[in-house]
Amino acid sequence: MKTLTGKIILVTGASRGIGAAVAHKLGAEGATVVVNYAGNKEAADNTVAAIRELGTEAMAVQADVSKSDEVKRMFDTVIAQYGRIDVLVNNAGILLYKLIKDTTDEDFDRQFAINVKGTFNTMREAATRLADNGTVINFSSSTTRLLLPTYGPYVATKGAVEQMTRVFAKEVGARGINVNVVSPGPTNTELFLNGKTQEALDRLASLSAFNRIGEPDDIAKVVAFLVSDDAKWISGQNIGANGGMA
Ligand code: NDP
Repeated sequence: MKTLTGKIILVTGASRGIGAAVAHKLGAEGATVVVNYAGNKEAADNTVAAIRELGTEAMAVQADVSKSDEVKRMFDTVIAQYGRIDVLVNNAGILLYKLIKDTTDEDFDRQFAINVKGTFNTMREAATRLADNGTVINFSSSTTRLLLPTYGPYVATKGAVEQMTRVFAKEVGARGINVNVVSPGPTNTELFLNGKTQEALDRLASLSAFNRIGEPDDIAKVVAFLVSDDAKWISGQNIGANGGMA
């Protein structure tokens, strides 16, 4: 029995990594999936093709989530194509590993532009344009609990996302929309693996109760539950998807 049949779902940053796994899982559960990407059209087209192989409708839409006009155009395109959007998954994000002393103005601004302004831009559109009884899932990170060196501005962006999630849940609840934030632990994607030694990977894996790094599909299964009707009574919550790490 498919749990998401009939839902139109927009996943930001779904060309690669966790977003691609989320898009595929939601498609497998019967949803029509919109695969947003920033620049990697080939990867987005591959995600769409993999979803269509499941017998589900999907399309790719380019938009830089940090730019409000591009986000507005993305909502226009999806609503023109499918008539409405039921679920928004705000997965797009970047991480620059640097000590605070080494972080440039540009590093700081870029992370805030994509992680915070990007989430804000899509939520602002969703506030009036997401269908009644819809769902919003934002993405934070378990690093807001682990507080490791080199994650300073990044955890600041994700802390901001967590707080906006709690407020937004109260702002749109009257329309039956629930809003939650998922906080993955270390997960096997380009963003996480970038520049890490095997020793660093083993150390991080050992922090989880299961002694391993998460896979994108571990996170996708949690998101699939949270956007289903069975999770409707959960709102304004931060759900750690991290194998008991934090
Ligand atoms: P990846 O780097 O593997 O993928 C990032 C995705 O985001 C790509 O699809 C990319 O598109 C897209 N993207 C980047 N910038 C923009 C933008 N400006 N507008 C639209 N899309 C954009 O990242 P992950 O899959 O690892 O991370 C996904 C989310 O999970 C992020 O929010 C991250 O902070 C969070 N997270 C990840 C963890 C991990 O260990 N991997 C742990 C905790 C949280 P394109 O291909 O076009 O560049």
